[in-house]
Amino acid sequence: MRKSTSVSASQSAATATVENYLALLCSFERDGQTAIATRLAEQLGVSLPTASATVKRMARDGWISIDNKKAIHLTPEGCQMAAMVMRRHFLIELLLRKVLDVPWSHLHSEAHALEHSISDDTLKRIQEKLDNPLTCPHGNPFPGEEKAVAHWVKLVQLQPGDRAVIRRIHELAEDSSDLLVFLENNALMPGTEIMVRNVMPFNETMMVEAGGQPVVLGLGVAKWIYVEPIKQVRVRR
Ligand SMILES: [Zn+2]
Ligand SMILES: [Zn+2]
Repeated sequence: MRKSTSVSASQSAATATVENYLALLCSFERDGQTAIATRLAEQLGVSLPTASATVKRMARDGWISIDNKKAIHLTPEGCQMAAMVMRRHFLIELLLRKVLDVPWSHLHSEAHALEHSISDDTLKRIQEKLDNPLTCPHGNPFPGEEKAVAHWVKLVQLQPGDRAVIRRIHELAEDSSDLLVFLENNALMPGTEIMVRNVMPFNETMMVEAGGQPVVLGLGVAKWIYVEPIKQVRVRR
């Protein structure tokens, strides 16, 4: 009895790791980015040997294939599982936000801690309760709903004077909790209206006004933010 408990615990721990890798690979894939073990290690904050060992195991188990340039690709099974993992993660984030009012910057890490053991039945209830949402609270589209966000543009594409509404903080930025806290403290979250004050490529910064307050953003941070531009109506006098 004791033995079987410890076996299932280690199996579920391994599964949680694999699930995190699958979701990340899915994110890379839908952005058209090449996934290699080094990028996975960087993003997940683990060593390269650790990432390489997991990748090897995942290839052995049929979740991924690795081509001769060391690029990692999801197999159809891996892709299906990754979509399920992402859907689960997004639904729990939404539940934490909409029902429990958990601070926006905590949603991603809280959902990560909870998501690996919730049943499909409960998930279905959450999905119905939340009226079949299209995006997570950071504005990232559910797998299969990418069209819903396709018309949003990167903040870094805007010019001084342009106004827009923040719609999305890219899922790859969600892994940095310091960044999420910074964005939350400055109201740089989906739904906030902003105005670009200036863009200084030579300084790698831009200044925006969010909720009436000026905020200086490094272009390395701004690149994760997607907005819906507000059309300016110019009246001729
Ligand atoms: Zn998240
Ligand atoms: Zn999210």
